[in-house]
Amino acid sequence: MQLTDTHCHLDYHKFDSDRAEVIQRAIDAGLIRMLVPGLHHRSSRDAVQLAESNSSVYAAVGFHPTDLEEFSEESFQQVKELAKHPKVVAIGEIGIDYYWVKENDKRAFQRDALKQQLQFAKDINKPVIIHMREENDAWFGEASQDLLKILEEWQNSLKGSLAEKPGVLHSFNGTLETAQKGLALNFYIGVTGPVTYKNAEKKREIIQQLPLEKLLIETDSPFLSPKPVREKRNEPSYILHIADKIAEIHSKSPAEIAAITTANAARLFAWGD
Ligand SMILES: [Zn+2]
Repeated sequence: MQLTDTHCHLDYHKFDSDRAEVIQRAIDAGLIRMLVPGLHHRSSRDAVQLAESNSSVYAAVGFHPTDLEEFSEESFQQVKELAKHPKVVAIGEIGIDYYWVKENDKRAFQRDALKQQLQFAKDINKPVIIHMREENDAWFGEASQDLLKILEEWQNSLKGSLAEKPGVLHSFNGTLETAQKGLALNFYIGVTGPVTYKNAEKKREIIQQLPLEKLLIETDSPFLSPKPVREKRNEPSYILHIADKIAEIHSKSPAEIAAITTANAARLFAWGD
């Protein structure tokens, strides 16, 4: 089985004591590639360093919407320099988070930082990894509306392969309508551990209606541990539990889901080829 984890924060301090073992366990579990997204300029640098020292690890660089305290022309310039590295395959994770951020001026700042980073992704012709979280974790609200508006405007301005494969809606947690709008803009949809939770019936119904060739599997390690290991720190090797659940939802074998999502990831991120 060949799996790809397109979203794991292996640079996170929770992996400081056993990072090499975590990566080895992932490889032993059948993971052929892991993508580590950046949260700000320092974490982006760490992601690139991990990619440099591990052949199966790749990096994305960018500023997460709740990590914008140090977003400036200077720190953004550092991220732009990092993006030249051959193992940087995307800009992310970037986006909108109205769960943690309630003040209007700070929300406006998030949208501005997102637009600047989308423009940069367009300039260097790389896809984006999009984070979106609603106030009170609602299924739909202002965050979805604002995000879709910004992404639509951006995607309409793209040409060529980036317009066909502009990025992924990471750890998707919206309505079927939002997912369909994302698909209409050619975005992929990222599926994480919560799909395995007992009370996630509505989420599974949505995923069942999405085309398999647009799904990616992400652990979001060390967060969002899937069901059988929910109390533990998440790590890429646990991706099997998510693949199993998608297989069940779509009436396929886990090996088929692994092959399809690995091919999807290769199409979107091209892995530096
Ligand atoms: Zn993340």
